[in-house]
Amino acid sequence: MEQTGVMVVISGFSGVGKGTIIKALMEKYKNYALSISATSRAPRAGEKEGVHYFFKTRETFEAMIQEEKLIEYAQYVNNYYGTPADYVFAQMEAGKDVILEIEVQGALQIKEKYPQAVLIFIAPPTAEELKRRLTGRGTESEETIQARLTQAAKESKNMDRYDYIIVNDKLEHCVEQLHELIQCQHNRCSYQNQFIEDMKEDLKIFLKGE
Ligand code: 5GP
Repeated sequence: MEQTGVMVVISGFSGVGKGTIIKALMEKYKNYALSISATSRAPRAGEKEGVHYFFKTRETFEAMIQEEKLIEYAQYVNNYYGTPADYVFAQMEAGKDVILEIEVQGALQIKEKYPQAVLIFIAPPTAEELKRRLTGRGTESEETIQARLTQAAKESKNMDRYDYIIVNDKLEHCVEQLHELIQCQHNRCSYQNQFIEDMKEDLKIFLKGE
């Protein structure tokens, strides 16, 4: 069967643990590539250019939009975030399943433009648990936690536009579910055009004489 990689969009509320899940998935299974986004926000302590993000000025980011270098982009808390196209398509052609960890507006653009992409939303078991996880980090002020919960309430309005929801209860379980779900996508007919065409062509031989 064909080896074209799957485009995988992963979103989830701040604090739900998407970063940890994706990291664990990529450490365990080697067939994934993580898309590195461009952003106009300033690097946080410890963030590296080309590893966490490609950091751009607003002007450079806007030039990238004009030149159609991004497959989607969005403004989030007054900054631009977007997915450079080149890397994603090169990795998919090389057979890798490419993960885009992006917010909801960008995810919906992807769904519109690339219907074969799979959109997965990672949710906490309960709203209460999300609050507990955000508080438990101990690094955020009361105000920031409140802002993130407000943002989560807004984002939840679009959860039903995703293809799948995975509940992050136990890390290991969640990683396995995610992996299985992505691997199943390879069997979708939209990823098997060549296989279907070849099969149709090869079977024609049996029609001879009819
Ligand atoms: P942060 O500033 O915390 O790194 O990211 C803020 C939000 O931007 C997160 O929800 C993250 O998933 C999202 N994000 C990161 N990269 C992209 C991107 O390329 N496109 C879109 N639409 N959102 C992104």
